[in-house]
Amino acid sequence: MTDRYDATDATERGSDEGTAREDAMAGAIGAGSPEDVGQNTFAATTESLQHTMGKDRPESGSYAFPAFDDHHPPDKGLIDDCVHCGFCLPTCPTYVLFGEEMDSPRGRIYLMNKGLDEEPMNDEMVRHWDLCLGCMACVTACPSGVQYDKLIEATRGQIERRYERRADDKAFREMIFKFFPYPNRLRAIAAPMRLYQRFGIGDRLRKAGIMDRLPARMRAMEALLPDLPKEEKILELTEPVGEKRRRVGILTGCVQRVFFSHVNAATVRVLAAEGCEIVAPKQGCCGALSTHAGREEESLDFARKTIDTFEGENLDNVIVNAAGCGSTMKEYGHLLRDDPEYAERAKEFSSKVRDVTEFLHDIGPVAERHPLPVEIAYHDACHLGHAQGIRKQPRHVLKQIPGLGIKEIRESEVCCGSAGIYNMVEPEPAAELGERKAKNVLATGAQIIVTSNPGCTLQLRASMKKMGREMPAAHPMEVLDASIRGEPVEELFQ
Ligand code: SF4
Ligand code: SF4
Repeated sequence: MTDRYDATDATERGSDEGTAREDAMAGAIGAGSPEDVGQNTFAATTESLQHTMGKDRPESGSYAFPAFDDHHPPDKGLIDDCVHCGFCLPTCPTYVLFGEEMDSPRGRIYLMNKGLDEEPMNDEMVRHWDLCLGCMACVTACPSGVQYDKLIEATRGQIERRYERRADDKAFREMIFKFFPYPNRLRAIAAPMRLYQRFGIGDRLRKAGIMDRLPARMRAMEALLPDLPKEEKILELTEPVGEKRRRVGILTGCVQRVFFSHVNAATVRVLAAEGCEIVAPKQGCCGALSTHAGREEESLDFARKTIDTFEGENLDNVIVNAAGCGSTMKEYGHLLRDDPEYAERAKEFSSKVRDVTEFLHDIGPVAERHPLPVEIAYHDACHLGHAQGIRKQPRHVLKQIPGLGIKEIRESEVCCGSAGIYNMVEPEPAAELGERKAKNVLATGAQIIVTSNPGCTLQLRASMKKMGREMPAAHPMEVLDASIRGEPVEELFQ
């Protein structure tokens, strides 16, 4: 883009005025001091920027004019809410990495406005939007209440409809969406992947230098491969322990169901111990990955099917233990607003959706907690903290465990780089963010990292492995389950 918003004034550091401004920024996002928010804003500028923004990156040459069609373009009213103050900049991971205005929330909103006004949608414009992680740190930070989440969701829908991606980019994305939302397809590839892990094929390929010759995206996928234990099945109906307090449904997820079934099993045990009858009907994908990637029709189809699945079960709540899924399911009312058959039903459904920690915090504990003498580092998944505003509930639930200490992570507002499919389609910035987060986690001195999103767990494990470090990871429900069952703390380190 040639005609750029001049952000110099909002991003300079070092002066007294700058210090006051940073204090204000820290205050705006609830951080204790400027040191708690993203620093080193310009640290990686030249190399990262060239690497990520186009050097050696062939363009598609796609050109769409006007940039947006009439089907839900980014809302001009929401765009005008942005007063260009820059408070969001220090928490935006891509701005933290590149120091580039057009890779900040303010810059991306400026480009949306350009698209509404006069500019075509072209490679460079899409590149800046593609680099957005959708982490929503800017929504938390913005003192003017700009709904960037709605803006980027509308923009991504337009990109996927109107912009012609390069053939290799398109094929890679299609491959992801042909597998990840479908547990049976994931199971089919899980078997050969188990053999791959058992025989250490990845390490052999690395030693032989073959892995280095694979494209960056394939290397990233390989590095993120989770351990693949045997899948634990969830019963379609689980009775409560003791007196029944609630009847709830549980979303078992796609990746969660196949690769993190032990998290689902722990969640069901905890809910049952807290007096819940749990219904786990046969279900498909909730549509979160597709929604965040702008694949509108596909995501709406998944949303309708999820509503159909749970609607007739007479549930008090639908419980979700994966942050990205929960934030999307709470948005069904908005996503299906044009569908006369589903609009009202979607609103009703969304009103029942709860993150599991939010739900447990609301109903209060009845099951006994046994001591777990352990120091944990709690990582706020962006789609729990920023998108759903759920930060105190998981901490509160974990603090009910005698002997457990929680260490806070520096720069907790900044994304770890996982962000749905981001660490597969944008491996370079994702790796930088992952290592940055891993260093901050290691610096806490905690024994274990605890987080509510499977993507964050995989991202942090892969980042630490790359750094030659290791730390066990667990979901809050695994920790709580261990405490309620009175298991030794060592079980968590397995
Ligand atoms: S969603 Fe995250 S990456 Fe995107 S503009 Fe906002 S803070 Fe930056
Ligand atoms: S999005 Fe909000 S915080 Fe960021 S520049 Fe605009 S008004 Fe300021």
